[in-house]
Amino acid sequence: MTIKKGDNIIVLAGKDKGKKSKIVRVFPKSGKVLVEAVNVVKKHQKKRKEGEKGQVVSRPMPIDVSNVLLFCAKCDKGSRAKASIVNSKKLRVCYKCSSEF
Ligand SMILES: [Zn+2]
Repeated sequence: MTIKKGDNIIVLAGKDKGKKSKIVRVFPKSGKVLVEAVNVVKKHQKKRKEGEKGQVVSRPMPIDVSNVLLFCAKCDKGSRAKASIVNSKKLRVCYKCSSEF
């Protein structure tokens, strides 16, 4: 996967389509990513103790990595990354404008 934790991305599909956000976590084995404030589901948390109120907690669920695209600040849109070798270091750059992600 070319996407890493902390990357700025744009969502391509689902209920948060078009939303810009940030990668919180990557799951390389399942090909999924956890994105800040994207694909948020509400879950009812049952009361654990007597007298305590049950509450609704919202939390993001992982989405398929194919549903996000790295966001290029220079192009101001989502873009594919390509690998580029600069000073024998491997970098990820924008497919269109070649600026570094
Ligand atoms: Zn670009």
